[in-house]
Amino acid sequence: MSSLSGNYSGSCGHLCTYETCVLRISLTVDNFGRRFLGCSQYKIGPKCPFFRWIDNPTCVRGNEAAHLVQQKLDLLRSKLQLACERERETTQAAAEAT
Ligand SMILES: [Zn+2]
Repeated sequence: MSSLSGNYSGSCGHLCTYETCVLRISLTVDNFGRRFLGCSQYKIGPKCPFFRWIDNPTCVRGNEAAHLVQQKLDLLRSKLQLACERERETTQAAAEAT
């Protein structure tokens, strides 16, 4: 078994390091806007368990704001869905009229 740092013999085949990991920002309500370092293969391939928070836990006010942002996002998503449905109906009606 290899003991070289940076090598990982787990099922994903690698372990990210501070050099290869990727900086991301959490969008979950509990950690909204909190920066962290994560696996460079996240959503691409098998990801390793590398994970480090950079920022301190989100403060109480930050968590309150996260809920407001989440509500606003949900509202905008539903408005977008309605607009898309309206556009599809209009396009369909125009196609049937010709
Ligand atoms: Zn990784």
